[in-house]
Amino acid sequence: MDKPGRNDLCYCGSGKKYKKCHMPIDQQKEKDKRDWIAAAQFLRRDLLKFARDERFAEAFAQALPLYWNELYTIDNAEEMSQDEALRYFDWFMFDYTLPDGSRPIDTYYADQREELSSVQQDVLDKWMAEASAAWAYTLTDYDAEKLVLNDFMTGETFDVHEPGGRGAVEIGEVILSRLVPVYDHLEFSTTAAYLPAAEITNLAEKLAKAKQADGEAHPEATQLDFMRRNNHLLIHHALEEAKVQGRPPVAALDPNRPDKAVQKVVHQVKKRFQ
Ligand SMILES: [Zn+2]
Repeated sequence: MDKPGRNDLCYCGSGKKYKKCHMPIDQQKEKDKRDWIAAAQFLRRDLLKFARDERFAEAFAQALPLYWNELYTIDNAEEMSQDEALRYFDWFMFDYTLPDGSRPIDTYYADQREELSSVQQDVLDKWMAEASAAWAYTLTDYDAEKLVLNDFMTGETFDVHEPGGRGAVEIGEVILSRLVPVYDHLEFSTTAAYLPAAEITNLAEKLAKAKQADGEAHPEATQLDFMRRNNHLLIHHALEEAKVQGRPPVAALDPNRPDKAVQKVVHQVKKRFQ
């Protein structure tokens, strides 16, 4: 929506000038949104930092070969690429179950929430309540900054805000990531990976089998419980396919995408032409 000038009539039809009507409300919303986005960025970094807390050392070492199907263990963990490390840490914080049944993010919540600003607390609360598990989503549509994704298993549709666009991913291919709410939209919680079309042929079958086994072991399990307990299978699948196809282990969304500063500049330039 194009915003009216200060002295133009407001878009709401009140007959008042914009500056006397919706301008302050819109400005506050924009500020809130900027604050949320900044808080979400902070929280991503802070959660990753917390994953390295020494109290998780043992869990970390156990989780690593589970997630990577032994490709990485504590002995060669430093060989993870930056993107692989980001995905692993993200999964560990949000989805890994510790021996007492809690997740590392629960420890973060109990320990660190009081240290956060009020908007950072709001983001954390929302992520605790609404973040998806790391999961597989089929790309069904897109525009410059939005991806339309379908949950690979349930078909539920999500619009995801992604300023970098779809990268190398084609419609029908599968993106592996976690969706987190940020103000009024969804974003990826960390670097996404993707599965090319040729590598998803038997994925539905694998997940259906996993779901059945999980349901027998945990009759009360919700879909979210199932996803958290089994989403490492998506990485195992990607690794197996990589071996078959002779490509590097887990493909990045687009290794050549411009960095954030470039994206911002391009976005500002584009806006001037709208
Ligand atoms: Zn108005």
